[in-house]
Amino acid sequence: MNAANGALRVLVVEDETHLARGLKLNLELEGFEVALAATGREAAALMLGPRFDAILLDVQLPDVTGFELCRRLRAAKDHTPVIMLTVRAAAEDRVTGLEVGADDYVTKPFVMAELLARLRALLRRQGWERAEAPVPSDVVRFGAATVDFTRHVAALAGEPVELTKLELDLVRYFTANPGRVLSRAELLEKVWMLANYSQTRTVDNFIVRLRRHFEPDPDRPRYFVSVRGAGYKFVPDALPPT
Ligand code: CA
Repeated sequence: MNAANGALRVLVVEDETHLARGLKLNLELEGFEVALAATGREAAALMLGPRFDAILLDVQLPDVTGFELCRRLRAAKDHTPVIMLTVRAAAEDRVTGLEVGADDYVTKPFVMAELLARLRALLRRQGWERAEAPVPSDVVRFGAATVDFTRHVAALAGEPVELTKLELDLVRYFTANPGRVLSRAELLEKVWMLANYSQTRTVDNFIVRLRRHFEPDPDRPRYFVSVRGAGYKFVPDALPPT
């Protein structure tokens, strides 16, 4: 994506000074404009200003957890892409991060190139969404679910469903390819914009989330179905009898 109307702005919320400065330097070398916050309080103050294009959010902060901060952001209907920086590779950290609405996570210590690749992937996805001309029908329905991609809102049986940007992209890709088996590698490439990425578990975590959002019985999925050894497929409602 280009920066025709100014550099993309990234907020780095990280209390380890050394790491924060390293991140700032690397991001600035990549052409980003960077703001630093060392506490949740500082981050919240900065978030009152102009919107950031992305947020790198450390989990362990002195005053509040990154999880809590992300939860508040999403509760305020702010869908700014968030990458969580987690200390451990613990499964529960990953799951919590995704549950509070983070779009991705990177485990410390991380390789700067990997973090930058993830960030670019997130921003590319966002740019692609913005650039896409609104189509006449940008709403899909299945079962009791309605998803409006243009307005970024979803509902199940009339009750609002909070979706992260990534979840929305995933629903979009699935519903645009009804009945087709989608491999994890394809989903990572087309939705996450990550080619040759090996952590296919990331996909599985998000499928679990989609099922919780939309399936009448998440344990026995009807719409987001597993295809053993191959991946997943979206099974639309049968056409109504004519
Ligand atoms: Ca920390």
